[in-house]
Amino acid sequence: MGVQVITVERRLQLTERTCAVCGRTFEGWGRARFCSRTCQNRWDYAQHAEQRRAERRERCRRQKEQQQAASAAREGQQR
Ligand SMILES: [Zn+2]
Repeated sequence: MGVQVITVERRLQLTERTCAVCGRTFEGWGRARFCSRTCQNRWDYAQHAEQRRAERRERCRRQKEQQQAASAAREGQQR
Protein backbone atom coordinates (compact mmCIF):
# COMPACT_ATOMS: atom_id res chain seq x y z
CA MET A 1 0.00 0.00 0.00
CA GLY A 2 2.83 2.38 0.91
CA VAL A 3 4.43 1.75 -2.49
CA GLN A 4 1.22 2.68 -4.32
CA VAL A 5 1.03 6.02 -2.55
CA ILE A 6 4.58 6.87 -3.61
CA THR A 7 3.81 5.97 -7.26
CA VAL A 8 0.75 8.23 -7.28
CA GLU A 9 2.69 11.08 -5.76
CA ARG A 10 5.38 10.73 -8.39
CA ARG A 11 2.89 10.80 -11.25
CA LEU A 12 1.29 14.03 -10.01
CA GLN A 13 3.78 16.75 -10.73
CA LEU A 14 4.04 20.06 -9.02
CA THR A 15 4.06 22.76 -11.65
CA GLU A 16 4.27 26.49 -11.43
CA ARG A 17 0.79 27.91 -11.80
CA THR A 18 -0.90 31.27 -11.48
CA CYS A 19 -3.73 31.63 -9.02
CA ALA A 20 -7.01 32.51 -10.76
CA VAL A 21 -8.04 34.71 -7.83
CA CYS A 22 -5.03 36.65 -6.54
CA GLY A 23 -2.69 36.15 -9.51
CA ARG A 24 0.12 34.85 -7.35
CA THR A 25 2.38 32.16 -8.77
CA PHE A 26 2.42 28.98 -6.78
CA GLU A 27 3.45 25.36 -7.02
CA GLY A 28 0.31 23.43 -7.77
CA TRP A 29 -0.64 19.82 -8.37
CA GLY A 30 -2.07 18.89 -11.74
CA ARG A 31 -4.93 21.18 -12.59
CA ALA A 32 -4.94 23.29 -9.44
CA ARG A 33 -6.06 26.84 -10.15
CA PHE A 34 -5.78 28.43 -6.74
CA CYS A 35 -2.83 29.05 -4.47
CA SER A 36 -4.81 28.28 -1.36
CA ARG A 37 -8.06 27.06 0.05
CA THR A 38 -8.93 30.68 0.79
CA CYS A 39 -8.69 31.65 -2.87
CA GLN A 40 -10.69 28.57 -3.86
CA ASN A 41 -13.46 29.65 -1.49
CA ARG A 42 -13.28 33.22 -2.73
CA TRP A 43 -13.63 32.01 -6.30
CA ASP A 44 -16.63 29.81 -5.46
CA TYR A 45 -18.24 32.72 -3.65
CA ALA A 46 -17.62 35.09 -6.55
CA GLN A 47 -19.11 32.61 -8.99
CA HIS A 48 -22.26 32.29 -6.94
CA ALA A 49 -22.43 36.02 -6.29
CA GLU A 50 -22.41 36.67 -10.04
CA GLN A 51 -25.10 34.05 -10.51
CA ARG A 52 -27.23 35.60 -7.77
CA ARG A 53 -26.77 39.06 -9.28
CA ALA A 54 -27.83 37.79 -12.70
CA GLU A 55 -30.92 36.12 -11.26
CA ARG A 56 -31.90 39.26 -9.36
CA ARG A 57 -31.36 41.41 -12.45
CA GLU A 58 -33.53 39.09 -14.52
CA ARG A 59 -36.30 39.06 -11.90
CA CYS A 60 -36.20 42.87 -11.64
CA ARG A 61 -36.40 43.24 -15.40
CA ARG A 62 -39.36 40.89 -15.66
CA GLN A 63 -41.16 42.69 -12.83
CA LYS A 64 -40.65 46.02 -14.58
CA GLU A 65 -42.00 44.59 -17.81
CA GLN A 66 -45.08 43.32 -16.03
CA GLN A 67 -45.63 46.69 -14.39
CA GLN A 68 -45.29 48.45 -17.72
CA ALA A 69 -47.69 46.02 -19.32
CA ALA A 70 -50.16 46.50 -16.45
CA SER A 71 -50.03 50.29 -16.60
CA ALA A 72 -50.31 50.20 -20.38
CA ALA A 73 -53.42 48.04 -20.07
CA ARG A 74 -54.85 50.42 -17.47
CA GLU A 75 -54.26 53.41 -19.74
CA GLY A 76 -55.88 51.50 -22.57
CA GLN A 77 -58.97 50.95 -20.45
CA GLN A 78 -59.17 54.61 -19.48
CA ARG A 79 -59.22 55.78 -23.07
ZN1 LIG B 1 -4.55 32.93 -4.63
